[in-house]
Amino acid sequence: MLEIEQKYANIDPVDLRSRLARLGAGPEVVHVEVDHYFNAADRDFARTGEAFRLRRIGSKNYFTYKGAKQPGTLKVRLESEIALPDGDEAAAQHAEMLRMLGFRAVAVVRKRRASFPLSYQGTEVTVCLDEVEGLGTFAEVEVLAEQDQAGEAGAVLTRLAGDLGLTHVEPGSYLGLVLALQARTTRRESVLVTTTDELRSARAEARRKRLSIGFVPTMGALHRGHRSLIEAARSECDFVVVSIFVNPTQFAPHEDLSRYPRPFDDDVRLCREAGVDLIFHPAPEVIYPGGYRTFVEVTGLQDEWEGASRPGHFRGVATVVLKLSNLVQPDRVYLGQKDVQQVRIVQQLVRDLAVPVEVVVRPTVREPDGLALSSRNRYLDSEQRTKAVCVHRALTAAAERFTQGETDPATLRRVMADHIAATPGAVLDYAAVVSGDTFAVPERVQSGAILALAVTIGTTRLIDNLVL
Ligand code: AMP
Repeated sequence: MLEIEQKYANIDPVDLRSRLARLGAGPEVVHVEVDHYFNAADRDFARTGEAFRLRRIGSKNYFTYKGAKQPGTLKVRLESEIALPDGDEAAAQHAEMLRMLGFRAVAVVRKRRASFPLSYQGTEVTVCLDEVEGLGTFAEVEVLAEQDQAGEAGAVLTRLAGDLGLTHVEPGSYLGLVLALQARTTRRESVLVTTTDELRSARAEARRKRLSIGFVPTMGALHRGHRSLIEAARSECDFVVVSIFVNPTQFAPHEDLSRYPRPFDDDVRLCREAGVDLIFHPAPEVIYPGGYRTFVEVTGLQDEWEGASRPGHFRGVATVVLKLSNLVQPDRVYLGQKDVQQVRIVQQLVRDLAVPVEVVVRPTVREPDGLALSSRNRYLDSEQRTKAVCVHRALTAAAERFTQGETDPATLRRVMADHIAATPGAVLDYAAVVSGDTFAVPERVQSGAILALAVTIGTTRLIDNLVL
């Protein structure tokens, strides 16, 4: 059976009850449902869209599995529910069995549900008025249907919602809403460690608790771009580690290593607010102790563009990402699309050296005028800041030309270069049009190719990119 449902927020319960009465709904049946949600050991339901819960209604117990939501506006998903033996003891035993199998308790959703059975336009539907602990009042319209009747059943639900005055669709699940609420209201401790021993023991403790680990490597001077990576890790992993380490080996001798911003207290505050569990802030000699000799190179991808302008940069990046990943041993590492060549190099490194980690890439976070957030933006004075928008404008101008049918990489490069040249004080380092896979210049530009720019304004070097 498929469960087809839609949830609505901003409910007026009095109005809803009177509309239901007018439509001839049956008497309401009220019960309190306590849903204990679990996540699997072999896959992450937050990513697959599945759900699994132990539902308790008084002394009754049920297991419910829900498949991923099928595409479309209504929530259509496979649902399977089985009744378990009654009682607290049976519920506890089943929960324990799940834990032994590696399932993890995620959250508990408690609600008072008033259900109204209703025959509407020849279809048996259920309307529920839910008071959800911590979230407020919602209505759900719901029907069970076989796959071949799903379309018609969905249309009936949409008409019914109209007749019930339900307009404010809530796309989230109660579980998702409760988790988001928890993330907003739970202030975490954010333990700060500086040595590899401390890090190892914190990580081992998390593993003992079977927590999945998300890792966000940074150089500090954190902003909303970093925060978006932390939030992604927070929502997908149980234990979030952020490293704050200005990695000396990725700076060329003439670069800004000593003046790279280090607002450490602000960084710790941001981590605490964003729900980071562990901050790793090693000194350079912790990562590169005396006698250190080993470096990683991702040949072919490291030498052009950023690599050409910053010799040795990617050797330093690849080395530190691998070393930090070996120390943290995360399930997932979170990177920003902002540093697209770095992303590609880390993906290659992970593949080539079979590093047991999933690389998650998150979109670039921008200022309202399009400037990509960067720790280096704070070097810009107000005049330079105004000019800095030329980087994103140049990228979007070239992207527009591509949309209009231009596929010659040289022409698209020229569009970007001309744009930068037209901004006094902005100096082009490179304008690249490359394949997303090889980072080589293609004969003809196709969707998925990358436009990348490096521009210096004053003494500040800015990079940005767009995927076509
Ligand atoms: P950094 O501290 O500059 O080494 O960056 C740490 C991580 O944050 C990298 O994965 C960057 O790609 C990512 N990052 C930096 N700026 C942004 C941004 N504006 N949007 C999204 N991610 C970003």
